[in-house]
Amino acid sequence: ERPAETTTKRVLLAAPRGYCAGVDRAVVAVEKALETYGTPVYVRKEIVHNKHVVETLRERGAIFVNETDEVPEGARLVFSAHGVSPAVRASAQARSLETIDATCPLVTKVHKEAVRFANDDYDILLIGHDGHEEVEGTAGEAPEHVQVVNSPDEVDKVVVRDPAKVVWISQTTLSVDETMETVRRLRERFPSLQDPPSDDICYATQNRQVAVKKLAPECDVVIVVGSANSSNSVRLVEVALQAGARSAYRVDRKAEIKDEWLEGATTVGVTSGASVPEILVQDVVAHLAGHGFGAVEEVRTATEDLMFSLPRELRAGLKAAG
Ligand code: SF4
Repeated sequence: ERPAETTTKRVLLAAPRGYCAGVDRAVVAVEKALETYGTPVYVRKEIVHNKHVVETLRERGAIFVNETDEVPEGARLVFSAHGVSPAVRASAQARSLETIDATCPLVTKVHKEAVRFANDDYDILLIGHDGHEEVEGTAGEAPEHVQVVNSPDEVDKVVVRDPAKVVWISQTTLSVDETMETVRRLRERFPSLQDPPSDDICYATQNRQVAVKKLAPECDVVIVVGSANSSNSVRLVEVALQAGARSAYRVDRKAEIKDEWLEGATTVGVTSGASVPEILVQDVVAHLAGHGFGAVEEVRTATEDLMFSLPRELRAGLKAAG
């Protein structure tokens, strides 16, 4: 008789994963605003693209709105981590709103690039996803100069005024590889295409992709914790598949994991997007342990220690409140 097969079912846990500095700052900004000023504190759009975070803040009294005109005159409004266009700032000012700007500083950096290149009269090719709040905000800095390029396939549709004066910039949460492919094709068409002064895809997006790429080839299935509207989370699923995971799924929480995904699997990779609280990942890890995947091994490709100080308006408010 052959001995029973002993394959150890295991979890490879990506690191870095989860919260980035910009998300942490934005979430803490809403929490501190609620503590300092009491309710109501309005938030334009989802403060970060995560259902659990938004629900938790809503329970604490935050009121989420789509636009400034839903906020009573003079009330307090937080701008989300994804940033806003100058038009939105102007409309908030017109309503005398007390704004707290939780735009991630790495998004603000891209806004400044757009403004600078527009002032120099460049055609700006913004690689990113149409309709994403960050893209609306960045494009809104220079609507006359910016056109959005969603994917490599859209490169052929791009029309510019002067091929010698073209620059690309990007959304912060894209797939690094796909973006480089878009840039390669753009450069084929516009050989003097200028690069942005520094990486627009942020450190957190890059680090999470590098980590999932490392573990994906060993995985029968990769589970990415993150919400459907979270760009960087959705990218992690794509990157895992491209890097060799046999399957990959995005879930908001452990209840969405289907038993059939785990059938016959020995190695499950787990990671999470930049807007995802660690508790949701630990729930998934516990769920997997309950299905026999008890051995957990961390696969770390970078260490992160970046932190951003709270929005200036809020720091002033905290100081005044003692
Ligand atoms: Fe900022 Fe990057 Fe986090 Fe977005 S994902 S909030 S750009 S650090």
